[in-house]
Amino acid sequence: MSAVLFRNGLVLTMDDSHNVMPGADVLVVDDRIAEIGVGLTAPPGAVEIDATGGIVMPGMIDTHRHMWQTAMRGYGADWTLTQYFVWYYLESGKHFRPEDIHAGNVLAAWEALDAGVTTTVDWSHGLQTTQHADAAVDALESVPGRFVLAYGNIQQGPWEWSAAPEFRDFVNRRIRGGDMLGFQMAFDVTGDPTFPEKAAFEVARDLGVPVTTHAGVWGATNDDGIRLMHEHGFMTPQTVYVHAATLTHDSYHRIAATGGSVSVSTESEQSAGQGYPPTWQLRDHGIPVSLSMDTSVWWSGDLFSAMRTTLGADRSREHMAAHERAETVTQLHLRAEQVVDWATRGGSRALGLDDRIGSLEPGKKADVVLLKNDNSPVMFPILNPYGHVAFQAQRADVHSVVVNGRLVKHEHRLVGADLPKIRADVERTVEYLIATMGPDAWAKGMNPDIPETKVMDNPYTYTEWDAGSAQWKHGAS
Ligand SMILES: [Zn+2]
Repeated sequence: MSAVLFRNGLVLTMDDSHNVMPGADVLVVDDRIAEIGVGLTAPPGAVEIDATGGIVMPGMIDTHRHMWQTAMRGYGADWTLTQYFVWYYLESGKHFRPEDIHAGNVLAAWEALDAGVTTTVDWSHGLQTTQHADAAVDALESVPGRFVLAYGNIQQGPWEWSAAPEFRDFVNRRIRGGDMLGFQMAFDVTGDPTFPEKAAFEVARDLGVPVTTHAGVWGATNDDGIRLMHEHGFMTPQTVYVHAATLTHDSYHRIAATGGSVSVSTESEQSAGQGYPPTWQLRDHGIPVSLSMDTSVWWSGDLFSAMRTTLGADRSREHMAAHERAETVTQLHLRAEQVVDWATRGGSRALGLDDRIGSLEPGKKADVVLLKNDNSPVMFPILNPYGHVAFQAQRADVHSVVVNGRLVKHEHRLVGADLPKIRADVERTVEYLIATMGPDAWAKGMNPDIPETKVMDNPYTYTEWDAGSAQWKHGAS
């Protein structure tokens, strides 16, 4: 038996009643939460973690992340979605070898655990061969987190790769059920009226696995794709619609009526241009929400960012819309408590894992995060715990993380991560990509042209600082 006891924390259970327990202990025995309460007795040999001054919460759940792209962390910081598509889909994504997928996945997986994200959907659309897929799973299985492999391949139509015998063979060989490695099929529906994606949906139905799809992406996927899915009976409660940002009421009604959920990637939607982060639309239509980080080619894989930017985007739009009507918002719709729920229960519900993870309740699997940082002036006072998680806490405040009962981060340090090896593997991938593309193309890809900005004519007179006389001079031309 192994046991971990979090002692004397502010416990956000995220159970159905969102019970908050100050000064409480959380006892983990083997892979389960055994007990939550005040003054629990530690079993012999338990690892005790002093949670005084900290927040104990469920592990967070990211429902859409292209983990293979983490090998290019930050490369696309100034990209639009168009530049992303050109780079990965059209020009350079095909260069990735199985070992490159592996390197990116391992890095992304540890990054998630470091940030308290205990379950991540690896939206793995760079699987050009099943050797790539084996490498992706090898990587995920080498890291003690909970993952869902969402199998995809942007170099082929989904009706092609999903029909290949080696795909079926891969699923039989590597996907065994169990809740440490789940499985989805990941592909997009273009809206082509002949609906070639139908064959891939049939494979998913045959295998009994959910489909996750980038929907409502400006310029790429639209209402036609949703309508085709719906008319053919492929919209299910297990379907996860990623972004769902540029859709009409009709599509949102179809999603709501069939019980699906939306994975909102606010940072992605804001920078890349899939459409305005749709939480306001999802609220109006009663559609369940989970959160995601999309890809570390732009953003880091922590859900503190997702919670913060999602609150900001929703509120920003609400204020803007009111100001256009010459009105003032005096009460906000979206609350910090709601985004913490989306980062935990939203994910467990979307993935069909809500009976096992997503909240701290006796009997559930033990995915537990302690936010505590005695060296940080931002960790006190904790007056509004949900607000603290969403707007104050950051990755460096993740003190300890338990996944399936196992300590994977302890006192701010990852347990068992060989970072020098992970770094060396990623460096080899980067060197290979630079050599394959050529250094000029590599540099150009990272530095897109900036459109010209023309400063407006200004009816007022400019003021300039005159260094010679050390005075402001007026009317300078
Ligand atoms: Zn995506």
